[in-house]
Formats: sequence, structure tokens, C-alpha cells
Amino acid sequence: MASDDAPSRKRGPRPLTPIEDLSPRRAKLEYSRLAEELAEYDRRYYQEDSPAVSDADYDALRQRYEALEKAFPELSSDVSLTKKVGSAPAEKFAKIKHVVPMLSLGNVFAEEEVHEFVARVRRFLGFSDEAPLFFTAEPKIDGLSCSLRYEKGALVYAATRGDGYEGEDITANIRTLEEIPQRLHGESWPDVLEARGEVYMRREDFFALNERQAAANKPLFANPRNSAAGSLRQLDPKVTASRPLRFFAYSWGEVSVMPSDTQYGMVQALASFGLPTNPLTKICVSAEEMLAHFRDIEARRATLGYDIDGVVYKVDDIGLQIRLGFVSRAPRWAVAHKFPAEQAKTIVRGIDINVGRTGALTPIARLEPVTVGGVVVSNATLHNEDEIARKDIRVGDTVVVQRAGDVIPQIVEVVLDKRPEGTKPYEFPHVCPACGSAAVREIDEKTGEADVVRRCTGSLVCPAQAIERLKHFASRNAMDIEGLGDKQIEAFFEEGLIRTASEIFTLAERNRASLTKLENREGYGETSVRNLFVAIDARRSVPINRFLFALGIRHVGETNAKRLARHFADFASLRDTAREAAPGSEARERIESIEGIGGVVAEALYDFFAEKHNEDEIEALLAHVTLEPMPQIESASPVAGKTVVFTGALERLTREEAKAQAERFGAKISGSVSKKTDLVVAGPGAGSKLAKAKELGVEVISEEEWFTRTNQ
Ligand code: NAD
Repeated sequence: MASDDAPSRKRGPRPLTPIEDLSPRRAKLEYSRLAEELAEYDRRYYQEDSPAVSDADYDALRQRYEALEKAFPELSSDVSLTKKVGSAPAEKFAKIKHVVPMLSLGNVFAEEEVHEFVARVRRFLGFSDEAPLFFTAEPKIDGLSCSLRYEKGALVYAATRGDGYEGEDITANIRTLEEIPQRLHGESWPDVLEARGEVYMRREDFFALNERQAAANKPLFANPRNSAAGSLRQLDPKVTASRPLRFFAYSWGEVSVMPSDTQYGMVQALASFGLPTNPLTKICVSAEEMLAHFRDIEARRATLGYDIDGVVYKVDDIGLQIRLGFVSRAPRWAVAHKFPAEQAKTIVRGIDINVGRTGALTPIARLEPVTVGGVVVSNATLHNEDEIARKDIRVGDTVVVQRAGDVIPQIVEVVLDKRPEGTKPYEFPHVCPACGSAAVREIDEKTGEADVVRRCTGSLVCPAQAIERLKHFASRNAMDIEGLGDKQIEAFFEEGLIRTASEIFTLAERNRASLTKLENREGYGETSVRNLFVAIDARRSVPINRFLFALGIRHVGETNAKRLARHFADFASLRDTAREAAPGSEARERIESIEGIGGVVAEALYDFFAEKHNEDEIEALLAHVTLEPMPQIESASPVAGKTVVFTGALERLTREEAKAQAERFGAKISGSVSKKTDLVVAGPGAGSKLAKAKELGVEVISEEEWFTRTNQ
């Protein structure tokens, strides 16, 4: 199924070397980069319900990954994404183990692949071409799957799919869905019945929800699927209750006595117990009939009121399903036939550059509005500058625009014979359109290739990044200014009271001279203003590592800030070295030779200090802030030198605090339990890590005991 011909399937092509031309080394490199990239997209999609790329792009990457693995089988391992379903349950939920795993589905896109699927099933079962074989064909609902466990007719718990083996406990949230019965109807239900299906949101409800989100200044959801997932995976069931979620049952997990021996019969039984089922489910006797139903559903797609992204075909006879079984993450007896993306032609009127909160420059095509699959599209993401260059998209071009299962449209290709005369290739800006600072592409140390994203280096001054930078600057692990939290920073920034980090330190002075004093603002009194100024004053002298971290230099997190602070005698010598650290210079070498610091950090430091705007802001800051040497580790602590894992809910500490504390006492923090772990601090709800620690005989202590040991 995996193949390298993505363009012919009308999905966004990427600049790929044909797989057969790859050396094993290049293949390995590309494979591991893809694995990393896909794992990050999975996390964003499954855990945060906020996808970073469109489904079509994700699918194209995934196909490439699978094709690489097929051509170079030695790349495959136990952790291969092809063996994995979804993503581990998010930490914030209690977990539920699935008695019967909840797996995924294989995908096909082309008609001949449906014929191949039917032929494969027949071959596996040893059926001749004439032997009757029935399939069900039903819409593939674009939502998130959920398992509902009923015991003696009563709903006892509900779980998301999670990684297929363990899902998130969303019982309280599911109970708020009107369509899901708390008690099954009738009398004929089995004692134990796990009904499985899709939680989804209707399109009109999705648009209304996004309008409410926009009015409340909250982030918008990318599509109905993500809004359904985001609404269901809430810690507070009241939020779920306020969101109009729906459900279609199409499958089952553990069932004490099967009410039917066919797929179709089972779905009818689920309907008779009061669960909603999809009316477009049909029994088919051949690939031709399945395809006819596919086309019929596709034709009705726009008027269904909810998003579907294909049609699922399943072998109807459950006995045969059992014989066919599973191949790694998907059943052999079912397949999802996905719809091709919806496309239309239009004209590029302009290319705008959007500067994100982290300084990433994202190009956006401004389009002559056009309707694609029933939705008016007037702009499309262009991803990054390589993508524009590769597709050679120019202002004035006629282009093919595509929407694929979500609302972020993209440009597939340029219609070259419609290109007007005199157009020039697009030149991507090398300065940030928001602040005029240089915008650069980092070089990946391992591959020597430039990062696809160009970023603004004016992090301290760029208005597009300013609010996030200020929040970071004042945050607990950075300058730690009490009373200057995210909300205050947003308000002060919007009113022009604090635009740069150095302005924090002139706030009191300006307030004294101001006619509209802070003390007179709603929500503020004399005491809170005084406290704020005291907190700011307390940070007029800080350890150098905190200051360095607070500057928000790319790749200079807390650990690297400490490494740098330990190495350089003072801030001035760090700054001077960074300024001189052009590639190939002696200064660059000196930075790169610091333990734990490599070329990426050296490059980031060089870019940061080469930017005049940043230099000016640092000057302004140093006029108010004195830098102290870094505090030494409390090496007498009994946890010094130990590798510690925190798991479960901590009551007195946030995760970040726990980490900072451990580091202060010279312990090393790890995210997973292994033989190298010395100590596990477990709070309520600790699951697999605790079990692993017990299995390995690693010492486990409570949060209280942690405080006792560290003598706090
Ligand atoms: P899938 O969504 O392709 O198929 C399996 C799922 O289909 C099942 O788990 C079930 O929830 C659902 N389903 C809906 N109707 C069904 C029906 N009638 N019968 C059976 N199942 C039905 O597979 P997946 O592993 O859940 O997700 C992969 C897809 O998710 C990719 O194709 C990709 O487009 C998308 N994804 C996107 C991103 C991103 O960043 N955009 C990231 C990860 C995944």
C-alpha cells in the first residue's frame, strides 16, 4: 500500500529523492527525521487536539515513512510508527486498560486498491472468486473513537482509544452526551457490552463553537474532528456538557454473549439497545457494489451535516473476521477507503508573511476567493520558503487549491500555462516583516541542512513575539517576578505600559509620573501595586544563568544557560565571545567545546548577539539589573548525583518546580524509569512508571518523603 506516488493521488508532493536512489545511510537519516516529525504531529493531534499540519500533509509524510520502511526493512523496530496506534493517554487523565485493544484501520485511496483488498481477503480465506462473501460499507466518521462499557445495562465507564491498549478515562464527560444512554434500552442486552464508535461534532455546531471561542478570545479549533476531541478530552465535564457532541456506534469490544454473528447484525443490535448508528451502512456483495456505495456517499458528503473522510469496508461474517485477524495495528478484515482531497482553481493575489509567537515566518497565499468543497477559501498556507520555491508559486499565478478533511487549505500546484508574462520567482524576505530584524534559517548539525523554517532573530524586540517573550522573561524559572503573570503581561502590553523586558524595570518610575496610575485601575489596589513593585525590585539583582535563560535565546533553556554561566566568568565575556562566533571562527570553536553545548547553540548565540536590536535591549536591561554569579549546587544533599523520576499527581509541587528543586540538589531528572533510575517520586494516579519501578526494584518514595529527604 505504501508508495511513493503521492502526487498522482492529489496530495501535496514534497521534494523527495526516489526511494530506489537512496543509500541506506540517507534512508536511515530521512527515516529517523520523519519518525521524529511524525511523532511530534501525533502528539499535537492526539494529545493536544491541535494539529500542526493538514491531514493530507500528514498522510503524505506517513506514506513516505512506510515506503522507506518497506524498502529498507532493517529500519523497522519495535518502536516503529507502523506498529503504533494513536498516542499514549495524556497524563492529565486517569487511564483505563482496554480488555480488547482498540486498533486502527489500513487506508486505501484508489479504486484498484479496493479490488486488491477484496482479492486479498478471498485469498487469505481460500475462497474462490464465486464463493459468496459479504462486506459492510459505511461512512468513516471524522471524530474520535470511544469505548463505552455497559454492565447489566448500565454505563459504567468510557474511555478514549489512547494508544490502543490504554485509553483516557472520560466517563464523566461521556455522561453529558445526550445521545448516549446511561441505561441500555430493552431487555435483551448482554450482561457485559462494550459499545465502540465515534464521538463527533456536527459542522454547524463546530462553526457556532468557534464563533463563541473567537468572541471569548480563545483559540479556534481547526476542524470539527479536533473540536470534538478537544471538547471530550476536558478535565471539567461541565465544559464537555456545554459542547454539542454526538455519537455513532459501529463496533464493540468485550461482549459477554454476542447478539449476532455478523457485523451488520451487531450494529443493528447496538441500535436496538438505544445507541445511535449510521443510516448509510449497507451490505455489499462485491468490490463493484462497495465502490458504488462509496461514490453514493461521496456525492452526499457535503449535505450530511458532519464530516466524514472516507468509507469503511468490513467483512460481514464475524467468524471470518476472527479467522482473518490483525496485522500489527489494523484488522485484515477491514479497510478505510479515503476520499481524495477536494480541489479548485484560483489566482494568487499576494503572499503575506505571518510571524508566529516563536518568531517562525510562515508564508500565506492571499487567494481570489473560491469555493472548495462547499467552503469559501481566500487564503492558503504555503508552509515555508522551500515549499514556495519548489512549487515555484508566484503572485499572479493560477493555482490548484485543495482542502482535505480539514479547514486549512493548501496549494497543490501551479497551472503553468496560465502564468501571466513578466512574473518573477517569489523572494522570501530575509528580514522580519514585524520588526525588521534579520530572519535566519538554522543549520541542522547532524545533516548540515538548513531548517525549513526561517525565524526572526529579534526575539527581544519583535512585537509579534513580544508577549510570549515577556511572559517567559518574568516566569518562575526565568526572572521569577511575582505578580507579573501571563494575564498582567497581556494587559500591560496591550495598554503600552510594558513593551519590552527593560520597561518592566521602569514601570514604577513611569507610574509615579503618570496621571492614570496603576493603583486606580480596576482589580488593582495600592497594596497589589506596591507588592508588584517590590517583586520587580527584588529582581534587580539575579544570578547570571536565570538572566540568560530569561532572554529567550533559541536553544538556550535552563540547562544550557547553566552550562554557559558556569563556563564564562561574566556576562560580558559570554557576550563578546558570542559576537565574534562567526562560523569557522576561533570563538565559535570555543563555544562549541563547552561540554553539552554544540553547534546549534553556538549558532543561536551568534545570531542573537549579532542582532543590533537585541544588543540595545540588553544594554537597557543591564542598566537596571545586576548579574550575580550562579549559585552552587547543594552537594551535601542525599539526592545529589541520583537519577530521579517524578510520576503521578504531585500535590505541593508543579512538575517544573520539582525539576528545578531536584537540579538544585544535584539530582538528574529523567522522564522514564529504567535500570539507571535511582529514585521514583510517585504521587496519586501513578501508573506504568510506578509499575516499572516496582518491577525493576527501584526505590519509590512519596512527595512528602521527598521533602523530608531534601530537608526542606
Ligand atoms: P484513521 O482515522 O485513518 O482510521 C481509524 C479510525 O477510524 C478508528 O480508530 C475509528 O476511530 C475511525 N472510524 C470512523 N468511522 C469508522 C467506522 N465506521 N468503522 C471503523 N472505524 C471508524 O486512523 P488513525 O490511526 O486514527 O489516524 C490516522 C489519521 O489521523 C491519519 O490518516 C491522519 O490523517 C490523521 N492524523 C493527522 C495528524 C495531523 O497532524 N494532521 C496527526 C496524526 C493523525
